[in-house]
Amino acid sequence: MCGIFGCVGEKDVSSLIIKGLKRLEYRGYDSAGLCLETDDSNFEILKSSNSNYPVDVLSKSLEKSKITSNAGIGHTRWATHGPINNINTHPHFSYSKNISIVHNGIVENYDFLSKFLIRKGVNIFSQTDSELIAHLVDLMLCSKGNLKSAIFSVSNMLEGSNTVALMSKEIPQTIFGFTTNSSGGLVVGEKNNYRFLSSDSYALENFCDSVSFTSKDDLVIISNNSLKVIDQNNLPTFPKNINLIKDNNDNSDEFKDLQTNFIIEKEISEQNSALKKIIAKRILDKPHDAFPEINRHRLLSSRKIIFTGMGSSYHAAQYGSLLFEDLLEIDTKVEFSSELKNKKIISPDQTTVFAITQSGETADTIEAIRNAKQQGAYVISIVEESNSKAAINSDSYLLLGTGKEISVAATKTFTSTLLMCNSICIYLASLLDKNNHLITRLKEDFMKIDNNMQKVLDCCDYDYLKVSKFISDSEKVFFIGKNLSFPIVNEGSLKIQEISKINSNSFIEGELKHGPNALLDKNSTIISIIGPGENINKSISSLREIASRNANIITISFVENSEIQDLSNYSFVIENNNKYIFPILSVIPLQKLAFMSALNLGLDPDRPQNLAKTVTVE
Ligand code: GLU
Repeated sequence: MCGIFGCVGEKDVSSLIIKGLKRLEYRGYDSAGLCLETDDSNFEILKSSNSNYPVDVLSKSLEKSKITSNAGIGHTRWATHGPINNINTHPHFSYSKNISIVHNGIVENYDFLSKFLIRKGVNIFSQTDSELIAHLVDLMLCSKGNLKSAIFSVSNMLEGSNTVALMSKEIPQTIFGFTTNSSGGLVVGEKNNYRFLSSDSYALENFCDSVSFTSKDDLVIISNNSLKVIDQNNLPTFPKNINLIKDNNDNSDEFKDLQTNFIIEKEISEQNSALKKIIAKRILDKPHDAFPEINRHRLLSSRKIIFTGMGSSYHAAQYGSLLFEDLLEIDTKVEFSSELKNKKIISPDQTTVFAITQSGETADTIEAIRNAKQQGAYVISIVEESNSKAAINSDSYLLLGTGKEISVAATKTFTSTLLMCNSICIYLASLLDKNNHLITRLKEDFMKIDNNMQKVLDCCDYDYLKVSKFISDSEKVFFIGKNLSFPIVNEGSLKIQEISKINSNSFIEGELKHGPNALLDKNSTIISIIGPGENINKSISSLREIASRNANIITISFVENSEIQDLSNYSFVIENNNKYIFPILSVIPLQKLAFMSALNLGLDPDRPQNLAKTVTVE
C-alpha cells in the first residue's frame, strides 16, 4: 500500500521526490524515507517515522541537510512486517551498502528467504520483509556479476505481489524497478531530461504528459539519458502508454500542511456540488446517450449483474444491487472483491460486473476485474481516477468526477457512487422502457436533491457535536437499518470504526433480537435509520425494545414522528420520501457524527491509525 517514487534528472531531483511522495502519502503514512545519490556516488538516506505527516518532516530534514542529488528513490510506508520505526522505514541497504531499495507489497516466502540469508552469513537489521530483497540482489550480484541478471533472479525468488525500485552504487545515476505477480506495477514517464518511476500515475501527473504502465516480469531502467523497459531476454517490451488526463478539480496540492484544517470536513461539504455534476451529466441530458462509455449490447444482454468492491465501495455495491433489483427487476449479486477474485462466475458471458474502487488501485478489486474478464464477463469499473489500473483493465469505466478524495475515509466518492448507480438505472430503465412512472418521479426528485442535501449539510455543527458525544462516550455503537438503508448503516459503522476507533457494528433491524440485543446496555448507543417505504411501526417497536435495555438512541428518519422523537435521545429528520434518494442524504449525518466523534477523542480524522487511502496489497 506504500508509495514508490524515483527520479533521475539533469539537475537536483530531491525536491521532486518530496513532491512525488507528498502525492503518495495518502497510500500509507506510517513513515517515509528517501535515498539520494551524492556527487561522489555515495548514498544518503533520510527517514521519518514519528509523525502522521512523515513527508513534511522528511522535507524539513532534507532542507536542513542541504543534500542535492541527480538521482534518488523515495517511499511512503504502510507497515506489514515490523513496527513503525526508523529501522523498518524504507529505503533499506544491502549488507555491503551497495544496494538501496524501496518496496511495496509482501514477500510471502519471507521465512524461507530470511533463513537462506542467515545461512549465507547475512545480518538482517530490520523486521521488514523488504530488507531481504536488498541483500538478495547484493548476493546475486556477487555470483552473477551483472545487476540485471541479479535482479531477474531475485524477482523469480520472491513469492507474493511485490514492486521494487532500487539503486546500486556500481551503476550511478540509474534506477531499476520491477514487479512480481499481480502487484500494482510501476508507472514510468519522462519529460525534459527528467525520468520518473512510481507506483501510482497520480504522482507523475505534475511531471509528465504521458506514462507507461509496466507489467510483471518487466525490468524498468531509468537513467540520466534513457528510459528502458526490458524482459528477461534483454529485449525491449512496449508497455501501454497513455496520456495523463489531468484532473481539473484536483486541489489536493493545496493541502500541504493540513494538521489543523481537516480535509474530510472539506470533502463532506463538497458532496452537493459533486452530485450536481453527475446529475447534470448523467440524468438531465438525453437519457439514451447518458453513458456512451457502456457497451449497451453487452449490458442489455446480461442476465445477471454482480456488484463488487471493498470497504465503502462494498457498501456502495450493496446499495447498487438493491437498487437494480428494485428498479430494474434484474438478478443481482454483491461480492467482496477479495472473494470474487478467486470465484467461478456462472454464465460469465451473460454477466456484467460493476467493479467499484474510487482510487482504481484497490488490489483486490483489480484482481476481481482480472478474474471476471478472464472468464468472459463484461466488466465496467466505477472510479474516480481515469489513469488507474482498474480503469485501464476494465472493458469500460465510468468516471465519478468528484475531484480527488484525499482523506482516508470515503465521503464524497461514496455518495457519488450511489448516485452513479441511480443514473445507470435510469439509463437502463429508459432503454428497457421499464417502470416509467417510478423513473420519472426519481428524476424529478433528483432535481430537488440540491436543496435537500444543503439542508443536511447546513444542519448546525453544534447539534452534530452534541450528538457525537453519545458516540464518543460509548463503549460500543450499533447501527440498524432496513432494505436500502442497510448499506448506509454499514457505511456509518465503518466510518466510526475508521476514524473514531470505536467498536461499532451494523445490523439489519430485524436481526437485533437474534443476537445483538445481548450486548445492549447503558454504555451502548444505537443509531437507527428509518427510511421511506418501510414499515415505520415495526421500527418504532424495535426502538422500544432498545430503550427498555437503557441504550442511547439516535434516529435519522424521513419524517417527523412524535413516537420516534420520544424514544430517541436525539433525532435528525431529513424530509425526503423517495426511498432511493433518502439513503444518499442519510449518510451525511453519519459522516459528520464520525468526524465529530474523532475530534472529541482527540484523533486525527484524516489519518486514522493503521489505515491508508488506497489498499494496494491483497
Ligand atoms: N512489507 C513492507 C513493509 O512492511 C512494505 C509495505 C508497504 O507496501 O508499504 O515495510
